[in-house]
Amino acid sequence: MLSVAVIGAGVIGLPTALAIQEELGPKAEVIIFTDKLSPHTTGDVSAGLWSPYLLQNTPVQQLTKWSKATQDYILKLWKNGDAKTTGISLQLIMALSNKKDYKAPEWLKISLGHSEFTQDRLKYYSQRYGEEFTGGYAFVGFIWEPVRFLPYLEKKFKDRGGQIRMGRVENFAELSHFDVVVNCSGLGARSLVPDPGVRPIRGQIARVRAPWQKHTFMLDTEPGNYVISNEDCVIVGGTHQEDDFNTGIYDNDRDHILTGCRKYLPSLAKAQVIRDQAGLRPGRDQVRLEIEERRIGEKVMKIVHNYGHGGSGVTLSIGCALDAARLVKEAAGLAGQSKL
Ligand SMILES: Cc1cc2nc3c(=O)[nH]c(=O)nc-3n(C[C@H](O)[C@H](O)[C@H](O)COP(=O)(O)OP(=O)(O)OC[C@H]3O[C@@H](n4cnc5c(N)ncnc54)[C@H](O)[C@@H]3O)c2cc1C
Repeated sequence: MLSVAVIGAGVIGLPTALAIQEELGPKAEVIIFTDKLSPHTTGDVSAGLWSPYLLQNTPVQQLTKWSKATQDYILKLWKNGDAKTTGISLQLIMALSNKKDYKAPEWLKISLGHSEFTQDRLKYYSQRYGEEFTGGYAFVGFIWEPVRFLPYLEKKFKDRGGQIRMGRVENFAELSHFDVVVNCSGLGARSLVPDPGVRPIRGQIARVRAPWQKHTFMLDTEPGNYVISNEDCVIVGGTHQEDDFNTGIYDNDRDHILTGCRKYLPSLAKAQVIRDQAGLRPGRDQVRLEIEERRIGEKVMKIVHNYGHGGSGVTLSIGCALDAARLVKEAAGLAGQSKL
């Protein structure tokens, strides 16, 4: 029996643990070690928009491949009629930019259908909002709500025989008896690895009641407001404050969010605020997805890292999970073999 420990049960850890079960079959024992579960992970703050964002130097080919794999997975669930149980909705998503060097993002071409705004359309939005927009686009895409899909994935993992142990892992040596350890600790990697390149990018949002609001709207640049519809609420955002570890609520951020979003969608003016939330995106120069061999005493531990997904963890989740599972197989010396 091959033993695999996965650290973390967020939008990266749970899909990775499931992908390992899938890749290695029933003779692999997969155990998750985590100090938080849904609804207390970073993903539980997010609206779950499929849209690559804040990823700095992660190569665009990787980004596109991972995002596409996630979209394919969501599309399959959606086609199977599992949208309700797994928190999926298909929406029109529009984005406007005021960047001087605006260029439509590469990943747009893998979306389920898109169009870029014409100069006439940009002029119309610029006049309407009193700003100068330089570019923008609309696409058909998925919202995949972590508050709904994380419990679904957790159940699926346990139903396949996976175990979850609650508690903080202070160092990898505690898990040196496992054949492979997979690190999906998000911002936790900063102290666990330790990797000082992992830094928080704080995001504050508000959940409001506005069932009439059906499409998603985002500003591609400053002031960065966005409005994303979920099943029971609408998420209005947002902020991205680097190196801020505070998960409490700032009143001035709340004002920025509510005033900003109401400017673009005035119908939100009387929407009741249900909840304010803040979370810390695990920022990094690039996503880290690779095998590390680490000497712990006499033993060389095989560690597969899968962290640093910034503001795109939901979007990259499945693509990175599939690659991480392949790396686990490689680390265990089983590459090229079918299920155990
Ligand atoms: C406001 C906001 C909006 C967002 N919107 C979107 C969006 O629309 N679309 C999108 O794609 N992304 C979005 N994101 C980004 C996304 O939420 C993150 O990229 C993602 O949640 C990161 O997932 P993770 O599993 O790596 O980290 P986390 O969710 O932080 O999970 C880390 C896990 O590891 C565990 N852990 C950490 N250290 C240890 C340790 N030492 N021992 C034991 N357990 C440990 C934790 O308990 C947790 O279970 C948003 C983020 C924020 C804050």
